Amino acid sequence: MTLATQIHQRWLILYMNTPIFKKLNNHFDADPNAPDPKISLLGNHVVLSFFLNSFLWDNVSEGETGTLTFLNCLQYRLGKPDSDNYHRYRYYQSDVEYFDFYLVENSTWIEDFPIDKKIHNSSILNEFRSKLKHFVFFFRDNTFECVATGYSFGRVFNDASGRKEQVSNFIISSTSKDIYCRCSNCGKTIAKFTEDSMIPTFEECYKSGAVPVPNFGWLCSQNCANEYEEKYHIKFVRTKEGKVDYYYGEI
Ligand SMILES: [Zn+2]
Repeated sequence: MTLATQIHQRWLILYMNTPIFKKLNNHFDADPNAPDPKISLLGNHVVLSFFLNSFLWDNVSEGETGTLTFLNCLQYRLGKPDSDNYHRYRYYQSDVEYFDFYLVENSTWIEDFPIDKKIHNSSILNEFRSKLKHFVFFFRDNTFECVATGYSFGRVFNDASGRKEQVSNFIISSTSKDIYCRCSNCGKTIAKFTEDSMIPTFEECYKSGAVPVPNFGWLCSQNCANEYEEKYHIKFVRTKEGKVDYYYGEI
């Protein structure tokens, strides 16, 4: 092996082992002063909610909440460092800005995820091993990290009656005591709520064509999603094919 090849190989190994940060919050920011991140659990998923930055974004009103739902989440943590100690983060890179949400490529999370982690569902490791990704969000007073197959971003907004939707999981978002999950547009029954889930399950409802909207509720079909959008002048997230789908077929 020539010296040049050796150097090249060493460089390649070094390069492959360096985490690469891909900024994901290109359409929102967390509040820089008091983001107040909170975690809630839902089946296989973990929901992170936090206050959005209304100083930087005209379309965000003060006190509005953003949510990131991490799909099929193996483990997560909310802990050190804070913004003053960012240089102590284990993958610290001076050109990676604080206060942002990233996908970490080339992460060595399997070896060095901090010990204050909470294992959410250990069976996800076997089931989704090759699809797991490392996400990190640097907030002012702490850092959130998790390992999951993907994420979806949602916003909590006032519903048609002016009532603020409750920040919780994305199945039961209304504060009403109704034991049935109904279409928010036509009122059709989609499922029956149990204490911590629903029958049919979230996954079954999704696969049969009902449309879950994070922190909002359910619509029974694409038709009802379209109608609701028109009625209340809102915009749902759509896939490239034009379907309303916050989970991109990943459930
Ligand atoms: Zn409907």
